[in-house]
Amino acid sequence: MKPFLRENIPTDLEEIPDAPAYEAGYLVTKNAGWRNVRPVIDPLKCTVCLNCYLHCPDGVIFRKDGRVEIDYDFCKGCGICKKICRLGAIEMEAEKNG
Ligand code: SF4
Ligand code: SF4
Repeated sequence: MKPFLRENIPTDLEEIPDAPAYEAGYLVTKNAGWRNVRPVIDPLKCTVCLNCYLHCPDGVIFRKDGRVEIDYDFCKGCGICKKICRLGAIEMEAEKNG
């Protein structure tokens, strides 16, 4: 896998790629089945600062149409994104089918 940010140092938020920084490699198995809580972003509080995007250990937060979204197929529910969001725009909610 080639880490995008190691070879392409962004100088502007617009240069940060929309999708995760890693090429598809070994972590391609969906892991949503063992998650019992999921992060939910409140678009009214989110300023798209991309802090959660930069800190998600699995690279499953991405930008789409000027918003920040989460790929729930691969989010493991660790809650790091909630802790890193200074605006309180992310809440962890219980999975309904757990
Ligand atoms: S850290 Fe919070 S405010 Fe920043 S993009 Fe993520 S959800 Fe939005
Ligand atoms: S809960 Fe963990 S894996 Fe899921 S989006 Fe947040 S930081 Fe990434």
